[in-house]
Amino acid sequence: MYQCNKNRVKDKIETFSQFGAAGKGGVTRFSLSPEAIAARKEFSRRMAAIGAEVVTDDMANMYATIAGSDAGLPRIVMGSHADSVRNGGNYDGILGVIAAMETLETVVAEKIPHRHPLTAMIWTNEEGSLYPPAMMSSGVICGKFDKATVLASKGVFPEAGGTFGEALATSGFAGDEKNRLNARDYCAMLELHIEQGPILEAAKKQIGVVDGVVGMFNYRIRTQGQADHAGTTPMSFRKDALLAAASAIKWIHAELDTFPKDIVYTTGEIKLHPNVHTVIPDEVEFSLDVRHWDPAVLAKALETIKGIPKEFDKCPVTYKEAWSRKRCEFNRELVGLVEKNARELGYSYMIMHSGPGHDAQYVSDMLPTTMIFVPSKDGHSHCEEEFTSLDEAWAGVNVALNTVLAIDKK
Ligand SMILES: [Zn+2]
Repeated sequence: MYQCNKNRVKDKIETFSQFGAAGKGGVTRFSLSPEAIAARKEFSRRMAAIGAEVVTDDMANMYATIAGSDAGLPRIVMGSHADSVRNGGNYDGILGVIAAMETLETVVAEKIPHRHPLTAMIWTNEEGSLYPPAMMSSGVICGKFDKATVLASKGVFPEAGGTFGEALATSGFAGDEKNRLNARDYCAMLELHIEQGPILEAAKKQIGVVDGVVGMFNYRIRTQGQADHAGTTPMSFRKDALLAAASAIKWIHAELDTFPKDIVYTTGEIKLHPNVHTVIPDEVEFSLDVRHWDPAVLAKALETIKGIPKEFDKCPVTYKEAWSRKRCEFNRELVGLVEKNARELGYSYMIMHSGPGHDAQYVSDMLPTTMIFVPSKDGHSHCEEEFTSLDEAWAGVNVALNTVLAIDKK
C-alpha cells in the first residue's frame, strides 16, 4: 500500500484556504472570481512543477495530466470543484482537488509505476452560487444542460459583472471543446469529497464508501387566499394564504414523519404575496425537496404529496413538480475497489449514499465513476465552521491514491 505525504496535504489545505479567505476561517470563492482564478493558478503551478500537462476545455474545466507507461491507454481522472458558496468552508470541493493533486504528486515523487495517464481536475462552477445552476459544467460536458442556456445565466449577487458566459470569456481559462472529459480518452473517474453531514462522525468511521446519490423530487406548492386589510377584516372572514401554507407544511410533516427514518424533506424557500405587514397574504408558494435512496419510498412519498388536501383554512392548494432526479448508482467494481483499499489500509469505513449532488453523479452516466467521503465535524458544511482534520483528509487521500493505482492495474 502507498501513502501520500501528510505535510504536503496540510500545505495545500492551508494554501488554498487563503484564496477568498472570508474572515472566520472559511472562504468566499465564487467560480471564475479573482479568488477562484488565484486558486486555479496555484493548481496550474503545482501541477506544472511535477511535469503535468495542464489544459482547459470550453467550460474552463481544468485537466492536469501525467503520462503513464502505456500511451495508448485512456486516462484515470480524479477531481472535484474549487469554487465555494458565500462564506463557505475550506474543504467542500477543494479537498477533492487537493486529493487529486496529491495523488499525482505522490506518484511522481515516489516514482510509482503506472500504465494509464493520470489526470487531476477542477470542475468549473459546481456550486452555481453566483451563476446558477449547480454542477453547471459537468452538466454541460455530460449532456444534462444546454451550453447556450448556461452561458446566458445571470449572476445573482453584485459580484457578478453580467452573465456566466461573459465571466468565462474574460477569465482566461476558456479552452478547447476537444479537451472535454469523454468516454474515449478516459476510463474512470474518482471524486473525494467531504460528507457534508454527521453520519461518518456519529458512526466513528474514517471513510465513506459511496455507492451512489439518492433520488429526489422538488415540488412547488401554492396556497391561494384573498388579500384584505389587516385592520378591518374579522378573523372569521379571512382567507389567509400564509396560514394555509403553514397548515399544509404541518400536514406534509405529519405524513412524511411516518416514512422510513432516513427520508429527508425540506421546505427551504417561500414566496409570500404581497408581503406587506398590513395586508392578509393572498398568495404563497413554497418549495418541498424530498430525498431517499429507495425509489419505492420516493414514489410513495410522491403519491402522498399528490394526495394533499385540496384546501386548508378556506384556501385552495395546488402543486406542480419543479424537477426531479433518479438515484445515481456508482460503478460497482469501483465502489468495491474503494472498499477494498480502505480495508487494506486499516481504516474504519461504511458504505453510504450521498444526499447532495456532485459532479461525479453526472460523470457516472459517461464513465465508470465513484466517490470517497471523509467526515465533516458536527456535520457542518457550506459554512465557515466546516472542518475535516488533517488525519481524516490524509486517510481519504490514501484511499484515493491506492484506489487509482488499483484501477490502473485492471
Ligand atoms: Zn462540493
